[in-house]
Amino acid sequence: MITLDNVSKSFGRTVAVDDVSFTVDRGEVVGFLGPNGAGKSTTMRLITNFLEPDAGAVLIDGVDVREDPVAARRRIGYLPENNPLYDDMLVAEYLRFVGELRGVGMGGPGGALDDTVQATGIAEVFYRPIGELSKGYAQRLGLAAAILHRPDFLILDEPTEGLDPNQRQEIRRLIREVGKEHTVILSTHVLPEVEETCRRIIVIHEGKIVADGSTGDLMAQARDTGTKRTIVVEVKGEDVADEVIKLPNVEEVTDESESEGRTRLTLAVGSGPDPRPEIFRLAKAKDWVLWELHEETASLQDLFSQLTR
Ligand code: ADP
Repeated sequence: MITLDNVSKSFGRTVAVDDVSFTVDRGEVVGFLGPNGAGKSTTMRLITNFLEPDAGAVLIDGVDVREDPVAARRRIGYLPENNPLYDDMLVAEYLRFVGELRGVGMGGPGGALDDTVQATGIAEVFYRPIGELSKGYAQRLGLAAAILHRPDFLILDEPTEGLDPNQRQEIRRLIREVGKEHTVILSTHVLPEVEETCRRIIVIHEGKIVADGSTGDLMAQARDTGTKRTIVVEVKGEDVADEVIKLPNVEEVTDESESEGRTRLTLAVGSGPDPRPEIFRLAKAKDWVLWELHEETASLQDLFSQLTR
């Protein structure tokens, strides 16, 4: 596992990482989320030992990475921000070069190289110059280079940045795949990234950890701390708003619209019991036609905004 133990790092007067502690266990896929400038890249450079902390320590399986930096790096695969690659090299040359640097025996079929090319789906561009790759393929190659030496831990800094939606989807799928065999920490400033890929989210803001929990728990927290729970109901019937507002725990009708003879209401609901069963009974009693009845899912974006306000 990776442990950050009260780690701090400043650049001049900028405190980029401020007394950060967390542990990532083997097999976890963790989203490291925060706005630009929050300290994500710096934290990742500290974990990968490209930077040394001013205070605190980064431990891998309990051993300070400064004690044996080479051994630590051997266990970590790192995809830096902006995925720096050599445009003039062929994909094949680049991967062999990276393999040599890391002392990886590439082997024949089923060897490290073959395995990595299969896992990242880059066989069809294997003999192409890197400069001619699409962004999506370039990112796959970056990921391939990061996992080539079969590290235990993968540190991915904004892995889908600059990709179009289809390419993002592809890379996310790939990360989920890779996450089955590796411990992954991936950073991002956009939420959908972590909601889809990660079971745990750590939120960083101005160098400090402001939230750390399972994606599910943070969603629940977003629901609790969000403005209010919201229920949307759409029915065909008479005096809908007047009747619904009388129900227990319905605090306010925040939006009302009419279309095709149907009334659509957005309700603010208190923290008490869910009024949906009562709405259903009311519709039955009044002989309304119920077209829709659902709770708006709390957005993690709300929580994120709140935490980083
Ligand atoms: P993020 O990855 O979340 O966007 P960074 O870790 O890159 O954030 O940056 C955190 C803060 O540290 C920012 O204010 C940034 O300007 C500053 N910073 C990062 N790297 C350096 C550096 N090498 N020199 C000076 N300031 C830096």
